[in-house]
Amino acid sequence: MLSADTDIPAGNGIITAVEGDRIHLHPDNRDSTRDWFYWHIRVRGCAGRRITLVFDRPCTMTVRGAAVSRDRGKTWAWVPEFTPYALELSYACGDADELRFALAMPYTLANLQEWLGRHAGSPRLRQHELCVSRLGRSVPWLETGCAPGGETAQVLLTARHHCCEMMANFVLEGVLDASLADEQVSGGLRFIAVPLVDLDGVEAGDQGKARHPHDHNRDYGQSPLYPETAAVMSLVQRHTDSRLRAALDLHCPFVVGDDCNHHIYIVGSEDPVNWRRQQALAGILEENVQGPLPYDAGDTLPFGKKWNTGANYGAGTTCARWVFQERRETAVAATLEIPYATAKGVPVTPDSARAFGHDLFMALREWAQRREAVD
Ligand SMILES: [Zn+2]
Repeated sequence: MLSADTDIPAGNGIITAVEGDRIHLHPDNRDSTRDWFYWHIRVRGCAGRRITLVFDRPCTMTVRGAAVSRDRGKTWAWVPEFTPYALELSYACGDADELRFALAMPYTLANLQEWLGRHAGSPRLRQHELCVSRLGRSVPWLETGCAPGGETAQVLLTARHHCCEMMANFVLEGVLDASLADEQVSGGLRFIAVPLVDLDGVEAGDQGKARHPHDHNRDYGQSPLYPETAAVMSLVQRHTDSRLRAALDLHCPFVVGDDCNHHIYIVGSEDPVNWRRQQALAGILEENVQGPLPYDAGDTLPFGKKWNTGANYGAGTTCARWVFQERRETAVAATLEIPYATAKGVPVTPDSARAFGHDLFMALREWAQRREAVD
């Protein structure tokens, strides 16, 4: 018998009915003050069927439909047949009797552990505990590249302040893969990374965006609500110094509509010094693109344009803004948006996103060596 549920890591969805081959559902917005769009379900008893997912509200699918896994979440692909942003998704299940479907390609602690396993024994990778989450999980932070003390420059990378924004993690993997490749390649760089800031939200399958009562990426103030944001602040203060050259907080944008949701871009700072550095880094990144995902420095979103206005930051300070205030003598700090599904029409997948991470690594290395870029 066909059934659907969300009892899986990062599961999310309200399944309202299963009728014949049709599964009716919508995203579970339990943690967010806004209607958001992340969902991730398991379907069983589906072998030999053509099933249809039916959404009872708009804004639940990407420009490439949704993602499907035929091996219990280990690997994902975009569905072969789709209508962009449609309310229905039809899928021929073939011989698979259990499938997972999601807005995009979930990335949880298990994915990070698999990545750590691939690099086990690397002397250039060190794993630490950032803090213990409110639900008792050990939130990791990672160091790659140069050992502390030997580096000429530091780079901070964070992801999942908004726990549903999973495609960012494949970019982060690509940066760190490149930083572990060998000493010649990574130069004197030391990377400090917090891959899963809102780990509890990631594992629970929450939206995370506009989280009640406070968004993790508006929590960088005098008295942070979350242990993770307090710990990131402490990490920056204890483990970086005047050698911090870049801090990138990786996000995914909105899922439909305005075209800035379909290319990779830096969110421009209102601080003129940071804005100049952001534009310089964006130019270097554009020059370093070798992988399939396009990047255009001209897509950098100036402060005051589209959603990037003062009104967006009224609820508190973002990670990037806070880090810039701490290290404004030397660092560029920015939110970097990675689309869920396509970048200028090219599919975003784990492989293409990792390749972009490699390009980003090359750009960060070049940026860190250009001392004159800091004014
Ligand atoms: Zn975000």
